[in-house]
Amino acid sequence: MPLTKEEKICPICGGPNNCQHGEASCWCQEVVIPKHIIEMVPEDKRGKVCICISCIEKYAKERGM
Ligand SMILES: [Zn+2]
Ligand SMILES: [Zn+2]
Repeated sequence: MPLTKEEKICPICGGPNNCQHGEASCWCQEVVIPKHIIEMVPEDKRGKVCICISCIEKYAKERGM
């Protein structure tokens, strides 16, 4: 299933998330996203829309991970 416009946008920063879902396997499936970052995603998008790599790096560091 092709991604919608919304699914290509990071729900945290609003930038492109480079998600490859539906085409190839996405990098996001191999990355463990810390729970506190997932909690920043609006509930309706959680588990559906990818967070971009820069947000993952940025917020993972904030917690000293
Ligand atoms: Zn982002
Ligand atoms: Zn993805």
